[in-house]
Amino acid sequence: EAKNSAKAVVEFTGELDTTTPLRIAVLSGLDQALSEGQLSVVYQPLMSTATGLTGGFEALVRWTHPEFGPLSPAEFIAIAEMGEGIRKITDFVVRQTLANLKVWRRIIPDLHIAVNISPRVLLDHHFPEIIEGMLKEFDLPGESIVMELTESTLLVDPVRAVEIINMLGEIGIKVEIDDYGTGYSSLAYIKSLPISALKIDRSFVADILTDETNQVIVSSTIKMAHTLGLQTVAEGVEDEATLMLLRKYGCDMIQGYYYAKPLPEKEVVGWLKRNV
Ligand code: C2E
Ligand code: CA
Ligand code: CA
Ligand code: CA
Repeated sequence: EAKNSAKAVVEFTGELDTTTPLRIAVLSGLDQALSEGQLSVVYQPLMSTATGLTGGFEALVRWTHPEFGPLSPAEFIAIAEMGEGIRKITDFVVRQTLANLKVWRRIIPDLHIAVNISPRVLLDHHFPEIIEGMLKEFDLPGESIVMELTESTLLVDPVRAVEIINMLGEIGIKVEIDDYGTGYSSLAYIKSLPISALKIDRSFVADILTDETNQVIVSSTIKMAHTLGLQTVAEGVEDEATLMLLRKYGCDMIQGYYYAKPLPEKEVVGWLKRNV
């Protein structure tokens, strides 16, 4: 994966190779991209397995570069995560999301949207304060946003991560573990944290129809998560047979192309009218 290869470059050489065109575009072009409107946010529906209705969305950033066209988020996020760029991107995504929530909550009053939070952003001591300020600015409750963190974020600085997750909890923000299963954290460790849900990584979900090992991993993860009081979300669900199997396992929420690809902002109201 691009994210890992970018990390590998840093770990191996001790510095980021800043010479490839994409890296130059990201490292030197972000401010201009933000001011010229090259970045946007798309929203992928999270569907309730039990009802088939919309339970929320995940906000995903998009960057259409004037020279390179659409950039892969996995790639430009990995580059932005090396420096301050990721703060600017997160600030943009959270603000867009809150502005939209303001409108969309008139259709679904308790609608919430999940945003992805990188380690550098979460671990900043001012982060809960910054988020609280934005919520005030938009006059929205903490419950309107959810934050997705990967297991690796918890490992960077576990003590500080817990402190900050607790502070977010105090303002009503729930935290979920993204890409669950790709890291090394045990459910016992996760249970000791103020986490509300696990998002099971796409790599386990993708072939559960044919791969018995992944069937066991996914079904037992869902069972254990529920025993520990955690909700479960499966990402990357692309067909009905996979959905049926996940429903049988008791998975709470589904995200994937079977229901919808990430939707441009303009299409969300139409989606909500058809799917709530
Ligand atoms: P992620 O957080 O695991 O997001 C889910 C990714 O899976 C998204 O890719 C989504 O478009 C894709 N996806 C959803 N359903 C399906 C499906 O059924 N099949 C397949 N094959 N893919 C599906 P996307 O939008 O390219 O984002 C890639 C990654 O970039 C995200 O993975 C996340 O790690 C990162 N990212 C995206 N937006 C942001 C952001 O605003 N902030 C941060 N920090 N990271 C972001
Ligand atoms: Ca995510
Ligand atoms: Ca994910
Ligand atoms: Ca992922």
